[in-house]
Amino acid sequence: MSTTSSATAIDDATLSFFRDTLGAGNVISGASADAERYNVDWLGNFHGNAGAVLRPKTTDEVARVVARCNEQGVGVVPLGGNTGLVGGGVARHPGEVVLLLERMRSAVSFDEESAILVCEAGCVLQEADQYLKQFDFAMPVDLACVALRCVAPSLHCTTEL
Ligand SMILES: Cc1cc2nc3c(=O)[nH]c(=O)nc-3n(C[C@H](O)[C@H](O)[C@H](O)COP(=O)(O)OP(=O)(O)OC[C@H]3O[C@@H](n4cnc5c(N)ncnc54)[C@H](O)[C@@H]3O)c2cc1C
Repeated sequence: MSTTSSATAIDDATLSFFRDTLGAGNVISGASADAERYNVDWLGNFHGNAGAVLRPKTTDEVARVVARCNEQGVGVVPLGGNTGLVGGGVARHPGEVVLLLERMRSAVSFDEESAILVCEAGCVLQEADQYLKQFDFAMPVDLACVALRCVAPSLHCTTEL
């Protein structure tokens, strides 16, 4: 199966806002070759055409760009390790942005009593597992893609958690 959408430019003022907020190097134009790998899913079944790929570092940056997207009616597609198999991380609708979480990988804290881990939105399962070792805990999953796939999207997968 292949699904495509036509590219839609995001207006210049919004692109400038993204660059001012995230730094120019963290806004990848949808038209550039660098955006290509974020416009296709793991299996190559779904193809998108994101207007831009955004690489925030902090939750504050996420909040600011998402608020702007909301104001402008720009759709937002979060993307973690891009190992999803059903095209959910592909920006298929015109004018959407990919919110790439690769710079938000940290495990933040762990409470041993409740066994609750707090981590950033792009924290990778394997890295979360490494972090938990110091507490003598482990992530309850060790399957394919563990070095790429993130905690957050894995929480809504039910086959192994
Ligand atoms: C070889 C292989 C084996 C696999 N085995 C399994 C398996 O055994 N069980 C299983 O369930 N899956 C499996 N998968 C599918 C895939 O690994 C999981 O769906 C995984 O959770 C995706 O993580 P990701 O970080 O790559 O997410 P992505 O592919 O980046 O995103 C997946 C979805 O989550 C959304 N998303 C991403 N980050 C966030 C966030 N922070 N907040 C909200 N939404 C977000 C995206 O928009 C998208 O809709 C496998 C995939 C491969 C390639």
